[in-house]
Amino acid sequence: MINVSKLKEGIVIDHILAGHGYKIFQQLGLDLLDGVVVLMRNVDSTKMGKKDLIKIETDLNLDLDVLGLIDPNVTINYVKNGERVNKVSLTPPQTVTGILTCKNPRCITNQEHIHDVKFYLVDAATNQYACEYCDARTRL
Ligand SMILES: [Zn+2]
Repeated sequence: MINVSKLKEGIVIDHILAGHGYKIFQQLGLDLLDGVVVLMRNVDSTKMGKKDLIKIETDLNLDLDVLGLIDPNVTINYVKNGERVNKVSLTPPQTVTGILTCKNPRCITNQEHIHDVKFYLVDAATNQYACEYCDARTRL
């Protein structure tokens, strides 16, 4: 069984939709961390059937925008001295800059290699974002 209290210090990202764990792992750059990081996939969950879970045994400034983009339904538990000190729920960010890229090949951002493109949330249910230049819809 997974026991959050076993983690002495760090962060547990819980209730990740099964299959999204690796995406989050990559997007947060967890492979670059020096500390212990555990990615668990297809863990049994009473709530979700199967879920992914990430344990990070180090102090880390999580990019909550990135997390909210990939999977706003995750819960983040901050653990200190073996106790859960803080639990954070996410909402998808209203706007994101520099994380998404436009999928429209004719969009000026792809023609001119524009970075830091701003995207606006258009559908929170499906996590769809619209490009500020051409309005094309995308999701991470
Ligand atoms: Zn575009």
